[in-house]
Amino acid sequence: IVSVQDLKKWYGPFHALKGIDLDVAVGETVVICGPSGSGKSTFIRCLNLLEDFQEGRVVIDGQPLTREPAAVAAIRRSVGMVFQQFNLFPHLTVLENLMLAPRLVHKTPEQEARATALAYLNRVHIGAQADKYPDQLSGGQQQRVAIARALCMRPRILLFDEPTSALDPEMVKEVLEVMGELAGDGITMLCVTHEMGFARRVADRVIFMDHGQIVEQGPPGQFFDAPQHPRAREFLSQIL
Ligand code: ATP
Ligand code: MG
Repeated sequence: IVSVQDLKKWYGPFHALKGIDLDVAVGETVVICGPSGSGKSTFIRCLNLLEDFQEGRVVIDGQPLTREPAAVAAIRRSVGMVFQQFNLFPHLTVLENLMLAPRLVHKTPEQEARATALAYLNRVHIGAQADKYPDQLSGGQQQRVAIARALCMRPRILLFDEPTSALDPEMVKEVLEVMGELAGDGITMLCVTHEMGFARRVADRVIFMDHGQIVEQGPPGQFFDAPQHPRAREFLSQIL
């Protein structure tokens, strides 16, 4: 569902991505890890057209990534994204946050948008918070709202960039549990995270990036128990 070939990106003179190749199958959960500055965020932001890239080819759900408005619209429809910061609108209730994009982008009728929003809120176990404002919720609840908001657009693939790094430790678990449930439901996910327990339990494949390249990848058992690349070994020894 995602096909990336020789993706290269520069920020000015700085070579941030040095030829990324990746194919992700429908339903697969891929965890991306690696040291700070290795290009993880840059890579997944390229998949959502939040960043331009100079070379390479990316196809998502049959749609080649280009700057043509029709392609951009199609990509934005099929790719959902959850960030470290929740980016909820503070002046809208939880339910209004969830209904906004479907109403504006998909022109979904209000009743239908409301029903969908409530269904996804229940799916992330916060149906009872629908009429609250974001600042009345805990960080873990806000992040689950952000996940439900992404789901309301019915994306074909969900991207996560360190969704739990802004959260207090006791709230990390509830967000990871929801993500694990979504993975179990067969949603295709690409997830940048340092939560190696989650990676081991939930990922179908772990990817290790360093200096703008994928230097190692494999099923979690293999990656964690027998990492091949010295940089991957060093990274794991620091983080585990
Ligand atoms: P972290 O774990 O700290 O989030 P990361 O792997 O997500 O790191 P990126 O944010 O993708 O790393 O950054 C990769 C490299 O590109 C870094 O060296 C960073 O300084 C550089 N970089 C990122 N964004 C920009 C930008 N807008 N302009 C210039 N350089 C940038
Ligand atoms: Mg990052």
